[in-house]
Amino acid sequence: MKNLYLLKNKEESLRRFHPWVFSGAVQRIEGQPQEGERLRVLTSQGEFIAIGHWQIGSIAVRVLTFEDEPIDRAFWVRRLRSALDVRRTIGLAGNPKNDTYRLVHGEGDSLPGLVIDMYGRTAVMQAHSVGMHVDRMEIAQALKEVMGDDLQNIFYKSETTLPFKAGLGQENGFLLGSTPENVAMENGLRFHIDWLKGQKTGFFVDQRDNRSLVEQYSKGRRVLNMFCYTGGFSVYALRGGAHLVHSVDSSQKAVDLVNENVELNFPGDQRHQAFAEDAFKFLDQMTEPYDLVILDPPAFAKHRDAVRHAIKGYTKLNARAMEKMPAGSILFTFSCSQAISKEQFRMAVFTAATLAHRRVRILHQLYQPADHPVNIYHPEGEYLKGLVLFVE
Ligand code: SAH
Repeated sequence: MKNLYLLKNKEESLRRFHPWVFSGAVQRIEGQPQEGERLRVLTSQGEFIAIGHWQIGSIAVRVLTFEDEPIDRAFWVRRLRSALDVRRTIGLAGNPKNDTYRLVHGEGDSLPGLVIDMYGRTAVMQAHSVGMHVDRMEIAQALKEVMGDDLQNIFYKSETTLPFKAGLGQENGFLLGSTPENVAMENGLRFHIDWLKGQKTGFFVDQRDNRSLVEQYSKGRRVLNMFCYTGGFSVYALRGGAHLVHSVDSSQKAVDLVNENVELNFPGDQRHQAFAEDAFKFLDQMTEPYDLVILDPPAFAKHRDAVRHAIKGYTKLNARAMEKMPAGSILFTFSCSQAISKEQFRMAVFTAATLAHRRVRILHQLYQPADHPVNIYHPEGEYLKGLVLFVE
């Protein structure tokens, strides 16, 4: 393994187990490593700090371990087993009513750059770093060893998550098995998972708990699920006894998916309708008085420099929705932008409430679920936040 030397005194954050080495902290690298190669990170004095995947970009190294240990099959098995133990502890793995969960959440599971979602006996594995891409076969073998018969297929889906410049020629495809079966269960509800072409790993696993809360509040309500994608919130609202559920997404593909998923769980249910329409246009033109509204937009700020613009976007969106909601309505509003803090998001929603001239109480403050853990040394891992509001 080649050595990477840090500049003087640049090891501080690593001593506090922060898992990234920024390129500005690098003094020199021995030899000429390939992108994705594992390097040993040393202080300017040559003292061992960590081992991690090297990549060209502002994050130069993503740390795999702070111990001087071999990164071999046994290493991956240990990390994956520890991730599985956590999912068993929180009651997600091995639950007959729920076989959809995140098994590996990057830094949150001390595996920066790696995401693995489980859908029944299929794992969808996604590399967000070149190093995880390079190591994918070894990880896949370790995953099979850890999961045993509970795992039959591994679908690798990194076409859109790897840096284009690395020129890896990556493709989506099965690393283990193959199956046309693509229905998974979340809290007893069934969903088609489009891991081939869908967003993320095919489903937004991170809204499971928040969907359950929507179900609790849906009875007799007229529900609007904005930015519905596969329609997770819509299906829960139907089970919760909603009077009607309208799902909106600008993508026709998403509208087809939500219709399929409603059909899968509640065939022929006339309470549901889906619309392929822009969110702002729909909110401007709607005449239906929805008394439970869900706003779960895509990340408005993908980078730090987009924050101000994003805050305006959240404000405008929430104000539009609040303006038209009848008194006594409930609004579930989310931001999945990692670059926006929960304080900034709350401020955006506060501004929206003043613009809409509504009296608003915060009923719940929501976060990402336990299978998307946050590494305490890496607060950047906190990304999903939501508010449930009572609008008068
Ligand atoms: N709530 C979903 C996830 C939402 S992902 C779930 O629980 O699974 C964001 C969705 O917003 C995507 O499906 C995308 O197609 C849609 N979208 C993006 N811009 C939009 C716009 N301007 N109007 C309506 N939908 C939009």
